Amino acid sequence: MAIKAIRGFKDILPEEACSRVRLEETARQVFALCGIDEIRTPVLEKTEVFKRGIGEHTDIVEKEMYTFQDRNGESLTLRPEATAGIIRAVVEHKLHGTAPLLKLFTMGPMFRHERPQKGRLRQFHQVNVEYLGSSEPPADAEIIWLAWEIVTRLAGSEDLLVEINSLGCEKCRPVHRKELMLYLENNQQDLCEDCRRRMKVNPLRIFDCKNEECRRNLILAPVMKHYLCPDCASHLGMVLDILEAYGVPFVQNPYLVRGLDYYVRTTFEITSRKLGAQSTVAAGGRYDGLVKLMGGPDIPGVGMAVGVERLLLLMGEAESRKGIDLFIAALGREPRDEAYYWIGYLRRHGISVEFSFADKSLKAQMKQADKSGARYCLIFGENELDSERAILRDMKTKEQEEIDLDDLPEALVDRISNQSAGE
Ligand code: ATP
Ligand code: MG
Repeated sequence: MAIKAIRGFKDILPEEACSRVRLEETARQVFALCGIDEIRTPVLEKTEVFKRGIGEHTDIVEKEMYTFQDRNGESLTLRPEATAGIIRAVVEHKLHGTAPLLKLFTMGPMFRHERPQKGRLRQFHQVNVEYLGSSEPPADAEIIWLAWEIVTRLAGSEDLLVEINSLGCEKCRPVHRKELMLYLENNQQDLCEDCRRRMKVNPLRIFDCKNEECRRNLILAPVMKHYLCPDCASHLGMVLDILEAYGVPFVQNPYLVRGLDYYVRTTFEITSRKLGAQSTVAAGGRYDGLVKLMGGPDIPGVGMAVGVERLLLLMGEAESRKGIDLFIAALGREPRDEAYYWIGYLRRHGISVEFSFADKSLKAQMKQADKSGARYCLIFGENELDSERAILRDMKTKEQEEIDLDDLPEALVDRISNQSAGE
């Protein structure tokens, strides 16, 4: 029996790969607009990186990580998200010493042991951005703008919603936490088992519960919004003002929290009704204490992640493969020997060329030319060799013309480059 891929790990076939390239190129263009540098960290890290960086009492660390011992008995984990590894690298290489503000992006696979379904895989991909070194509201607004810009450039803005909340800071959060605990203790008979456990370790995460019953019971729970200290309130106000100036539409959602412990102040999600249950296409927020927690200096951070598979769902129709410029149908020993020189020349000059590796019939080669999606086909057999003129066929209009062998590769380069420039 043939071997199959692992559940939740998906092959990316050529057609989908084209859409992903477009997605990645768009993201790179948007990153360039803000002067963001790329960083690439390993997919495998010491488990400690994520335990510390994400928090022990999160869904990710508690039940979603791919953790195993390697041959030396060391506990390693496939990265479930990007931030912790990037901060580990920044601290290790002291990158924060090189610039007052680091703007970094990365793209790549993440791994979480979850139940696979639409928009949820075990190996999925993210586009991530982290800004390290600024606690100012414009940094938060730029991060949200980046997520919005990438998603809308690729999927339009229809049905998309930016939801924003503030989680407060170490000054105002404890006051809210106390009130929330009180409320939860008085209402715990109505909460699910998970929530009753969360209550003790990370009560804010109760707002993350997907259980309808719990959600109904939380409508009256005290929300952070009403407990923000003046600094946090003005921070949020400024972020919202800047987003308005940038033309990013948003709504405030007081129930929005993040599954990760290190988030403070701004938190946001971009959701789409089109995605069904897994409605969040991008998410992020501010994480001021994290770098210090990871053993680095006390520098603030804000970041976001776009879920690639969910964005692909919103992008709809897969890209069709881009056809090549020219197919050379060369028939017979001598014409084929000649054609290799042209093929070498044309490719060196940036013209994409395919040809049949086997010396097949004209009919078979024309069939292959059609399949290649070539713009032109050059037909060159013994007859053309004798008459010193090859036939160039425009595959769209079906028009044919003869081209002198004398200046053949040069003429083709001119012809095809001008054609693509004019399109
Ligand atoms: P969710 O509530 O959907 O599980 P999350 O809070 O776990 O999301 P984050 O850790 O914030 O998600 O990850 C950021 C983004 O990465 C998500 O908004 C989503 O688009 C994408 N994402 C997260 N987990 C998966 C997954 N298992 N499969 C595909 N995409 C995912
Ligand atoms: Mg999750």
